Amino acid sequence: MRIAAVFAHPADMATEAGGTLALHAQQGDEVYVIILTHGGRLHPNIYIEEGRKSAAERDDSIAKADREKVLAVKYRELEASAKILGITKVVCLGADDTMSTVDNVLIDQTANHLSNWRPELLVTHHPGYASGVGSDHCLAGQISMAASFRISKQFANLDGKEPCFIRQTYFIGNGISSRSSIDPGGGAFNDLYIDITPVVAKKIHAMDCFVSQGYNGDYARKCVSGHNGHWGSLAGVTFAEPFIRNNAETHQRLPLSDLNKKRDEVSMHRGYSQNANVWGIPQE
Ligand SMILES: [Zn+2]
Repeated sequence: MRIAAVFAHPADMATEAGGTLALHAQQGDEVYVIILTHGGRLHPNIYIEEGRKSAAERDDSIAKADREKVLAVKYRELEASAKILGITKVVCLGADDTMSTVDNVLIDQTANHLSNWRPELLVTHHPGYASGVGSDHCLAGQISMAASFRISKQFANLDGKEPCFIRQTYFIGNGISSRSSIDPGGGAFNDLYIDITPVVAKKIHAMDCFVSQGYNGDYARKCVSGHNGHWGSLAGVTFAEPFIRNNAETHQRLPLSDLNKKRDEVSMHRGYSQNANVWGIPQE
């Protein structure tokens, strides 16, 4: 299978769907990732924290890092994180992370990559994230949907390319970064969970890469334990990532997943708590 994922910021790849992408990579699927913005302005923890230190303690090569250095560090972190997750290819389009409108150039760039990779599945942010209020996440969802529409309408005679049909789009479920009652907006609810327990260490180590924004160490473990642990408890597994399907699915019979078949309503709370300790996963 070929899967593409489009995210607003570099660290989203790990936090939002890192476990799911790692599972697909592990089973031999091709997994492509597009990051729309450089993410250099968001969570500039190490630079701000270094700048708050006294002159005697401060390392000015960090505190006064310029745009070029900030972005180079972020891209290195993204590459390292992608390697841990087993991503086939990650590209960063480098838009500024203050973008506030859907941008046709970004749609074109996203469409070009998707058209070359021809994914069957797409993972991206919900286009109604925060009820469509201009956040990078909702814009990324909207840009992705516009790009997938564009490649479904390309035509060999006009564009020199056959149309590309993405069969299903999975929006990131109730967001890891959600602090808003209107997220993800539009009355949408998680309708699918992926059990990421087998690759939870990979997800944590992928987050550990984002040192410049303080996502490493305790935060990665707290985040996975809190968010993915919570969704896991709803899903009946230790750790889960939540999704919202774009298209209603067609089956030949009513589907019942293997995990739902095994679900034990009486004792599952014990089962999914057995290997819930992520604090023991060492930082690499
Ligand atoms: Zn983000």
